[in-house]
Amino acid sequence: MISSENIQTFKRIVGEDNVITSSAGRLVYSYDATPNFQSMPDAVIAPRCTEEIYKIVNICRDNKIPIVPRGSGTNLAAGTVPSEGGIVLLFKHMNNILEIDEENLTVTVQPGVITLDMIKAVEQKGLFYPPDPSSMKISTIGGNINENSGGLRGLKYGVTRDYVMALEAVLPNGDIIRTGGKLAKDVAGYDLTRLLVGSEGTLAVITEATLKLIPMPETKQTMLALYESMDAAAKSVSEIIAAKIIPATLEFLDRPTLIAVEDFAQIGLPTDVEAVLLIEQDGPPEIVARDMEKMADICTREQAVSVQIAATEAEALALTTARRSALSALARLKPTTILEDATVPRSEIANMVKAINKIAEKHNVRIATFGHAGDGNLHPTCPTDSRDHDEMERVEAAFADIFAKAIELGGTITGEHGVGMMKAPYLEWKVGPEGIAIMKAIKQSFDPENIMNPGKLFAKETRKRVVVTL
Ligand SMILES: Cc1cc2nc3c(=O)[nH]c(=O)nc-3n(C[C@H](O)[C@H](O)[C@H](O)COP(=O)(O)OP(=O)(O)OC[C@H]3O[C@@H](n4cnc5c(N)ncnc54)[C@H](O)[C@@H]3O)c2cc1C
Repeated sequence: MISSENIQTFKRIVGEDNVITSSAGRLVYSYDATPNFQSMPDAVIAPRCTEEIYKIVNICRDNKIPIVPRGSGTNLAAGTVPSEGGIVLLFKHMNNILEIDEENLTVTVQPGVITLDMIKAVEQKGLFYPPDPSSMKISTIGGNINENSGGLRGLKYGVTRDYVMALEAVLPNGDIIRTGGKLAKDVAGYDLTRLLVGSEGTLAVITEATLKLIPMPETKQTMLALYESMDAAAKSVSEIIAAKIIPATLEFLDRPTLIAVEDFAQIGLPTDVEAVLLIEQDGPPEIVARDMEKMADICTREQAVSVQIAATEAEALALTTARRSALSALARLKPTTILEDATVPRSEIANMVKAINKIAEKHNVRIATFGHAGDGNLHPTCPTDSRDHDEMERVEAAFADIFAKAIELGGTITGEHGVGMMKAPYLEWKVGPEGIAIMKAIKQSFDPENIMNPGKLFAKETRKRVVVTL
């Protein structure tokens, strides 16, 4: 519980209207996009500038009050659930684009800027910010940085980490630091920028970020390849990469996902095939034309039953929008939707999808899978009902098997959604006890009082590792 004296001080710092303490107001921030996790904060505070955050953090440090930074709450790992109470810090007033620097090709923003708003603003100047999580219409840059989010363009262009050049952050001890700069080269000391990216709000409050931009690709084309077997689709992916083509997008959807997406988007997607690849290439027109032709040939050779290049920009947009809506489409099937992001080396995609289907059968649960085929980042998604306790236990057991299988195939428990509370019990499976020890030491040196987003990343108990026999 936070004392009424502290609440009064918070109100003096940010203004009465920017501190919420009512039950109804706090309830809204007790959960995020992750099903089945909920815990009430003691207060919700919306600061207007770094100086106010600095003052708030100092009070929290002195009074050991947990701080949960929150962008739009779209994370899928219970990363913004205030599991130990304390304050939720909102960035709704800190949502400005501060500068677009066309000479250095950078954009400097406050953490609450909506990703798509920033992408549109830089595109107006002919510049390109590639990281494009499917949630970009609502996610914030602060959330993207803290989850190191990826997107459909990750294969060719990388993820958020590859675009963060400089950060301003308030540390839990109250210090304000500035890391990096608008520099192509900078090896001055430990790379604190990279350490903070993906730190899930557990090390510092990010208050400003400078991100790298690149010139806008001249043109783009989109293609859809349909398959009667997952193996053939996976083989096409490997052959495309082996042909030394790196497409801008290389996504796949399995049949259950296709059915849900078509029902939702109604754009005439086929629902009688086993797998679909959505492929895009961008760049100079002649390179795009050459790559599209080569990729179409590869898909046809690898038994695609149909290969179609979108004839118009509107058609292409409808296809990518449909892919981006996969989670929303699957979420309509049952009251609870659990989406995971187990990731394997690209060469293991077909094996992983087969294993997921067998695991679903073994535990008698329904799992649809789609994802970023080019980077082996799969989204097995389970439409379920959290009120059915028996089914929920089976779902949890199925996902434990999926994580174990991903690791066995040389993969990881999460490719882009982060660990949060949801995957904390599995982190040790991936990084080992030594990895946990060094991560805890880093946490301890930043945050000895454990006030920054406590209860995330590190579980009280690690799940017992299962051996999956299928
Ligand atoms: C429909 C849907 C589609 C999605 N698609 C993708 C996808 O394609 N790729 C992908 O990677 N993810 C995806 N996600 C997950 C999620 O959208 C991303 O992780 C996103 O980056 C979260 O942004 P947010 O603003 O909602 O952050 P939040 O969920 O509010 O926060 C995420 C984390 O960042 C921390 N944080 C936020 N702001 C700050 C700050 N200023 N300082 C310190 N810590 C901070 C929080 O404490 C938390 O740990 C999807 C989610 C949904 C619901």
